[in-house]
Amino acid sequence: MPTLDERFRDGPPTREPADAHAWLSAEERRFILWGLKERWSAIRMGRALGINEATVRRFRKKFWEDPRLLLELGLYEMVGSARTPEYRCLVCGERALGRLAMERHVLRHYLEEEAVMAALPEVTDNSARQRGEGQESGEKKPQRKHRVPRRQRRH
Ligand SMILES: [Zn+2]
Repeated sequence: MPTLDERFRDGPPTREPADAHAWLSAEERRFILWGLKERWSAIRMGRALGINEATVRRFRKKFWEDPRLLLELGLYEMVGSARTPEYRCLVCGERALGRLAMERHVLRHYLEEEAVMAALPEVTDNSARQRGEGQESGEKKPQRKHRVPRRQRRH
């Protein structure tokens, strides 16, 4: 998957005039996150996207309140399939072992440590692992199939 830098090398995503009032797409959200990384102002990001700066601010506020929104945007990818899988951050390119460590790393780009740990405390490890279907195909748990012997039908 491309890093944010690679993704927006040629500029921001564009929207059709008809979509001027649509809510932010995932790609637009990623662009805002790229802009935040580059320390762009909300005004500049809004102008680049052709949207109101208030919409940019609203998204920022939204993920401050619910940091998990950030983890739905594919900001990291799996790069190995060892027992403890390695992940690569698509914001900065850094790698980390284990999904929880990577999710925390990604959140740290945009949130204070306290908010990161509140969003991803140790106990959520399992639920964190179960989220993110579709982002990676390598982590599917082998599903043990219990073959149930076919019972004799009673008539
Ligand atoms: Zn990073």
